[in-house]
Amino acid sequence: AERTLRQMQKMDAIGQLAGGIAHDFNNMLAVVLSGLQLVQKRLARGDTNVGAFVEGAMDGAKRASALTQRLLAFARQQPLEPERLDLGHELADLQELLTRTLGSRYQIEIRTEPVWPTLADRSQFENAVLNLAVNARDAMPEGGRIQLRARNAPAGSAPAEGGGAAERDYVLVEVEDRGAGMDEATLARAFEPFFTTKPEGKGTGLGLSQIFGYVRQSGGFVRARSEPGVGTVVSMYFPRDEAVASPPSAAPDRA
Ligand code: ADP
Repeated sequence: AERTLRQMQKMDAIGQLAGGIAHDFNNMLAVVLSGLQLVQKRLARGDTNVGAFVEGAMDGAKRASALTQRLLAFARQQPLEPERLDLGHELADLQELLTRTLGSRYQIEIRTEPVWPTLADRSQFENAVLNLAVNARDAMPEGGRIQLRARNAPAGSAPAEGGGAAERDYVLVEVEDRGAGMDEATLARAFEPFFTTKPEGKGTGLGLSQIFGYVRQSGGFVRARSEPGVGTVVSMYFPRDEAVASPPSAAPDRA
């Protein structure tokens, strides 16, 4: 049943993606087609000066190919392999990768506190943090400081799904930038698959929706706060792994 549910959730997400993909893919094919038509016309009248049109068509084809690659990667999404993780350590371990990936114009500040253990998939966690850091960078084209932190969010301190306060303990991992920020309309759509405000070829619009899916599958949830011209904070809440704290004699409360 577990597997079926996961499969259904995946199909649902893919269904949502299909509309967006079809639209983008069609645009790219139109670029390829019009390029080839121009080539055909010129060649028909003996004009072999077609380099630029061929180039344009190839460009469109490359973009279409990159798009389908990403769709395939999304569709065959590995099932999560949760393990007991200290997300503070995991975050701190990413310092070098982030510094290298983002370049010297960005200061990566990672602050961690001792945090509760969580059950989460390590490589998906790294992916999520990297994605958020890249978004932070894109919001600060001139460079700047990106702050990442991990801390405990005890029951009552985390926001609950339907308003109010959460009833269980979470570990909170946040990525904050002082970049362009988002207006309300953008923020409202930011987690939609394929929603992007980035130029064609740069944004896929899949980053935040994948993070949303991953954290949710891990039993947690994601929040984003943003203000135009001020910056953005994305907060990932991972449930505390309670199994660790329970005394050995206690009856296990889950399978
Ligand atoms: P992508 O980065 O490929 O566009 P995402 O799903 O990661 O896809 O983000 C969707 C959109 O949300 C972005 O195009 C951008 O408009 C907005 N966004 C995400 N993160 C930030 C951020 N840190 N600052 C400002 N806008 C952001």
